[in-house]
Amino acid sequence: MAIERTFSIIKPDAVRRNLIGKILTKFEEAGLKPVALKKIHMTRAQAEGFYAVHKERPFFGELVEQMIASPVVVQVLEGEGAILKNREIMGATNPANAAEGTIRKEFALSVGENSVHGSDAPETAAQEIKFFFTDEELVG
Ligand code: GDP
Ligand code: MG
Repeated sequence: MAIERTFSIIKPDAVRRNLIGKILTKFEEAGLKPVALKKIHMTRAQAEGFYAVHKERPFFGELVEQMIASPVVVQVLEGEGAILKNREIMGATNPANAAEGTIRKEFALSVGENSVHGSDAPETAAQEIKFFFTDEELVG
């Protein structure tokens, strides 16, 4: 399988509970390397733009409020089959359905406060990386 890059967010609920290190360890142990990483406090415009695909969904307002409530860590993860591998490590969107050993099973509080975001396909990964990082920031 090819080396890929994917986009990941450690969401406010996890950053607030001091889980950055524990979550990064899950990615590193699975062979995913952070090639770029920064802590930011998302603006409303960024959160609305990033999640624009969900803007008609009933949970959109709550999702935006949760994403801007406090800082997040945004990162680009690289590795063999990184896009699918990241989704596997994250677990199902609703932690009630997440498999044992996944980040969401271990750390998520609810379907809204589910600790991590990960790109779902090559096209979205490329778009999401560009949304938060310049080419110069991707240091390999
Ligand atoms: P993901 O790709 O697994 O993160 O899930 P989606 O792309 O379907 O949804 C994006 C994010 O919206 C999820 O990670 C949740 O934080 C939030 N979300 C999705 N469905 C619901 C829901 O039914 N209720 C609430 N409150 N939030 C939701
Ligand atoms: Mg998604």
